[in-house]
Formats: sequence, C-alpha cells, structure tokens
Amino acid sequence: MSVLGIQNLRACIGHDKEILKGLCLDLPQGEVHAIMGPNGSGKSTLAKAIAGHDDYEVTDGSVLMDDTSILGMEPDEIARMGLFLAFQYPMELPGVSIANFIRAALQARLGEGERIDASNYYKDLYEKMDELGIDRQFTSRSVNEGFSGGEKKRCEILQMAMLQPRYCILDETDSGLDIDALRIVAQGVNAMRGSDRGILVITHYQRLLEYIVPDRVHVMWDGRIVRSGDKALAVELEEKGYDWVKAELVA
Ligand code: ADP
Ligand code: MG
Repeated sequence: MSVLGIQNLRACIGHDKEILKGLCLDLPQGEVHAIMGPNGSGKSTLAKAIAGHDDYEVTDGSVLMDDTSILGMEPDEIARMGLFLAFQYPMELPGVSIANFIRAALQARLGEGERIDASNYYKDLYEKMDELGIDRQFTSRSVNEGFSGGEKKRCEILQMAMLQPRYCILDETDSGLDIDALRIVAQGVNAMRGSDRGILVITHYQRLLEYIVPDRVHVMWDGRIVRSGDKALAVELEEKGYDWVKAELVA
C-alpha cells in the first residue's frame, strides 16, 4: 500500500525520558494531513525520530514507507527512499550554495557512474523557481545563512519541488512566521499536492490551515494522537483551545 505508516511508535530522549508513547498515524499518498498540539506534546520529536536523529532512541513500534521499514536507516538513505523532512530549526550551511546543495541531493540518488546533466538541472531549477516566484540570485546564497523566516521557507519549498519526494513532513515553527512566510509554505504545499505524494504538516497554530486545507487533522497530546478528524477539528481547536482536549481525556 502507498502509505507512510506509523504504528505504536515509542521514542525516548536520553535513556529514560519517553516522549512518544505509542503513536499511530497513517499518511496515504494523495493526502495532506496536519498534526496540531500544544508545545511539548512531542511533535518535533516525531519528525526527528522518523528521520533517524541521533538524540532519539526508538524503543518500540514501526515506521513503514510503502511496506519498507525505515527505522534505523541513515538520514540520506531515508531521503533516497523518497521522504523529505523539513525541520523546525533548519541547519545553516555556510559556503554551500542552494544550487549546489540541491544538486548534490539529486546526485546522491543516482546510481554509480550516473551524473546529473548540468544544463538540464539548471533548466529545471529555474523553471521551479519561476513557478514559486523565487528570484534567480537566491540560488547562489549559502543555505539558510542569515535567512529570514520567509527565505528559509522558500529554500525548503524549492528543495521539495526539485526532489519530488513521495512523502513530506514539514515541522513548522510555532512562532515568528510572518504572514508572508505562511503564504510561501501554503503556496508550496498546495503546488506539491498530488495523487503520488503524502504531506504531513506539523503546526502549533490553526492559522496555517486556513491556507493549506488538510484532508485530515490529528491532535497530539503527551506523545500520542488523541483525536483525528477533518478540517473542522482545526477550527474547533482554535475556538476551544487545547484544554478542551485535555478535559475530555481526563473525563
Ligand atoms: P513540540 O514540538 O510538540 O513542542 P518536542 O517534541 O519539541 O515538542 O518536545 C517534547 C518534549 O521533549 C518536551 O517536554 C521537551 O522538553 C522534550 N525535549 C525535546 N528535545 C529534547 C532534548 N534534546 N533533550 C531533552 N528533552 C527534550
Ligand atoms: Mg516543535
């Protein structure tokens, strides 16, 4: 099945601090899902645990990408499988231009002896940039170095557009994204929607979901998905707040 399937995922930070406590989520290709949840509920931990980040130890459960287990794989291997992850706090790469960075990522997916054709690469890159309304000179800048929030988002969406991943997980910042940056993310995600792609948007605020209308909304609480619904759930959350979910859990 064409699904990114997360079953009963448990993950710790350090040796004993369990953050993910049996999380289940299916992201089918062709759908956009959103995870919402209060600060500290484990949203970023989920993205990092899936990505194979060193700080997190998965102690139970599985993550299957189209029936292939990706737990324990190296981050570059996971990327080659077709999973794209955008983190809440993206890394800066001084001295590495965006154009070279994306080219290296594409090159890494090719077999031995195969090479990216430079003129085709730039043609494709500029086409994607035109579609996304990105200025040409942007590609010569170092990845994320001194970028504004909006520029980081542009860089992220451009990578996604070039790599054409089968699944995307975007961990959006909880604060500091201005309306311009929100629109960039939304425009990019909406342009990337398609039957051959599953997209998971992690966000603290309902506002982003006014621009990206998700097929499913999941609420995360204390390391688990405690509620799922359609886009109306996001609106309900915005009105009633997370205490409402908590009250129901305790009841
Ligand atoms: P969210 O993204 O939903 O705000 P996080 O996944 O960032 O939540 O954090 C979940 C919990 O894990 C929080 O209690 C946070 O303090 C803790 N945590 C996150 N990263 C670390 C870390 N590197 N070391 C120790 N605790 C951490
Ligand atoms: Mg977070």
